[in-house]
Amino acid sequence: MDKTKFVLDEKDMPTAWYNIQADLPEPLPPLLHPGTKEPTILPPPLFVEALNEQEFSKERWIEIPEEVQAIYRTWRPTALHRAYRLEKALDTPARIYFKYEGTSQAGSHKPNTAVAQAYYNKQAGVKRITTETGAGQWGSALSFGCMLFGLELKVYMVKVSYGQKPYRRILMETWGATCIPSPSTDTQIGQKILAEDPDSPGSLGIAISEAVEDAGTHDDTRYSLGSVLNHVLLHQTINGLETKKLMAEQADVYPDIIVGCVGGGSNFAGMFLPFVRDKIDGTKPDLRIINVEPESCPTLTKGPLTWDFGDVAGMAPIAFMNTLGHGFIPPPVHAGGLRYHGMAPIICHLLKLGLVEATAVPQVATFEAGVTFARTEGILSAPETNHAIRVTIDEALKCKEKGESKVILLAHSGHGHFDLAAYDGYLAGRLEDYAYPEDKVKEALASLPEVPAK
Ligand SMILES: *Cc1c(COP(=O)(O)O)cnc(C)c1O
Repeated sequence: MDKTKFVLDEKDMPTAWYNIQADLPEPLPPLLHPGTKEPTILPPPLFVEALNEQEFSKERWIEIPEEVQAIYRTWRPTALHRAYRLEKALDTPARIYFKYEGTSQAGSHKPNTAVAQAYYNKQAGVKRITTETGAGQWGSALSFGCMLFGLELKVYMVKVSYGQKPYRRILMETWGATCIPSPSTDTQIGQKILAEDPDSPGSLGIAISEAVEDAGTHDDTRYSLGSVLNHVLLHQTINGLETKKLMAEQADVYPDIIVGCVGGGSNFAGMFLPFVRDKIDGTKPDLRIINVEPESCPTLTKGPLTWDFGDVAGMAPIAFMNTLGHGFIPPPVHAGGLRYHGMAPIICHLLKLGLVEATAVPQVATFEAGVTFARTEGILSAPETNHAIRVTIDEALKCKEKGESKVILLAHSGHGHFDLAAYDGYLAGRLEDYAYPEDKVKEALASLPEVPAK
């Protein structure tokens, strides 16, 4: 039997991140200032210079600092697995591989950028970082990163999640971060919202506004974002580079199909960007790259490609992206994360150029796939990842129908050990599907910013 698990030696871990901006057939549209609507950089009071440079860099390879490499080596390189048991259960001739990012200390791909961002902030003399978190995955990854570099971290956590999902908060606090429910009395925006509605459940938009206000009003503080931005996707390419190397040098295969889930797009872009290069230069024209999103937050499949604010409050730069409208909030029955109204501009650009594709899946089917994965490969996956597992299984079943032994590569973004309540809901038959919320999207799209023709 062929090998089950492929791992790089530590000394063979890639030492530079791959920047797709060097190879795009058309450059990315600019970011626009939310007030003037003119091209802008990331707001300097919020981001350090090194990250701003990476955001707009056209250099193909960006050196990973030694200190960041040393920390990466505490859990990287991560393994590429062959999913024999899943293949067998599906009775498919497809060859399914998955690269598993759940072995990081925070349980997902997110530390790949959290560690890098904490490093660059430390280098620039920053003492303190603020961020927002929904369910707590980003907050916990950044807590881990800040702990390693002795940075203070304040996490504004959406109040409903703070109440319902205490375990990631406890993880953040154990790593030394401060985590408070948002809206809070610590910011003017929070005070204003609480004055109007003392029982406000909070939202990601409110939490972002609080974290941004906090960073903007403290000289020693910067703000950090865990997805969407170019520099975040850049840091995640360590994963795709490792995978490409493992497939070429050890597994001796090249994927026919790469599948991943997308919220803001960081884990999946980190996987596929080094491969999409082979489509751009014409060496692998038939490679399919499938972005998977929830039907209840279908940014790429239903959202128009247009200018919209990066944040719900309309304070962040305006990006050219597929969007459901910055005021869009997914329905409350939606359990699986991946709730952002927009999408990484790099992914939207590649979708427009026809280099990647997108599909949306309903919630119950994603958990069904996640349970199949747990009952074959053993890993209890994050609800986000289950979206990608659903489509991986569907593609493998298509191979069965057609008798094709395609190579399917699944970007496995993390484990679901903090998401057991959602599994409980599924196993008890309480989880519901929620079709595309057309009216809510229509309403949210009515308040797109007016941008003069670019
Ligand atoms: C945060 C998260 C995602 C979604 O974010 P992306 O930026 O789209 O990758 C997906 N999977 C896991 C496990 C996550 O923690």
